[in-house]
Amino acid sequence: HKEILKRFRDPEMGQQMAQRVRDSLDRLTQRLGRRANVMEFCGTHTAAISRTGVRELLKPHVNLMSGPGCPVCVSDYSDIDRIIALAGQPGAIIATFGDMMKVPGSRTTLQEEKARGADVRIVYSSLDALAIARENPQQAVIFVGVGFETTAPTAAVTIEQAVREGRDNFFIYSLHKLTPPAMAALLPDPELQVDGILLPGHVSMITGRGYWDFLSRQLGLPGVVAGFEPLELLSAVDHLAQLLQEGRPSVVNAYGRAVKEEGNRAALDAMARCFDLQEGHWRGLGTVPASAMKLKPALASWDAEVRFPLEMTPAAPPKGCLCGEILKGKKTPFDCPLFASGCEPARPIGPCMVSHEGTCATFYRYERFA
Ligand code: SF4
Repeated sequence: HKEILKRFRDPEMGQQMAQRVRDSLDRLTQRLGRRANVMEFCGTHTAAISRTGVRELLKPHVNLMSGPGCPVCVSDYSDIDRIIALAGQPGAIIATFGDMMKVPGSRTTLQEEKARGADVRIVYSSLDALAIARENPQQAVIFVGVGFETTAPTAAVTIEQAVREGRDNFFIYSLHKLTPPAMAALLPDPELQVDGILLPGHVSMITGRGYWDFLSRQLGLPGVVAGFEPLELLSAVDHLAQLLQEGRPSVVNAYGRAVKEEGNRAALDAMARCFDLQEGHWRGLGTVPASAMKLKPALASWDAEVRFPLEMTPAAPPKGCLCGEILKGKKTPFDCPLFASGCEPARPIGPCMVSHEGTCATFYRYERFA
């Protein structure tokens, strides 16, 4: 495995490939009369593109835009407020991923509530949350599940395990979201002029390449499934440049070492058994039809939203925060007057500065002095 990674990080090959990609992109610029706009829908790609220097290297030749690919960032304000309110319920234990701790709600964060005495625990998987429920049978353990098609299958398997065990003190607050409806809602926006998509590698490991064929069929756009190493990123951009040059809106897999045509059938089946699709609320995008994965009615006993309903007044975004526009690719963190000047990872104002996959946090780390 180490040897393979070494190959994908080889500096000499990287230089050669970078030159080839730049040449392809320059030919494309001539054809389009402007730099191509390429959007990625994966927070890990956002970070990898900056960390590896690919963004800087290709900046004069292509506009690499970040879309709504950070699941913590796209979680709606009112959901964050609801989760924080649940943390205040007597006897409740909130179990969630570390990134959620610092996401500001309208008044406070989970981290602040923990400091005030709420029982909030960081877990690495939904199965860890189920283990907490086993250890604390007298308390209601609420797992806040955040993620796309990558994490939803594990949450589904966990719920099925909880059902098998007859565990009545374990609940899921599902903020899981489906990627294609967000793409279909965002990409036709004429303001963006998106030419092609770098498709998320991790999501594609679950869904398979074929999942993205709707891009060419419905939206007439090419897409390339990309890996995360420097040469893989360059190769994916190169493939995309070729498709655009040929005017061919196909979907190509450039991450063949991890992604198969048909994806992971067992994971997809688990998702289909446990979740129904409902209208979802996305920060930045607003309401997107059939984009939220919510537990099926047969699993209502384990659904935190059903078991602990809360009436909340809709929250306003933090004043001055441009996360919504950044998640749509319409602004970059540099457009935000608060970036690194009032908003930073230690004291984030919006979620895009909290999550390690957030565009603002990535730009703070890697692009600030570029
Ligand atoms: Fe929001 Fe901070 Fe990003 Fe500005 S820098 S958009 S305030 S998260």
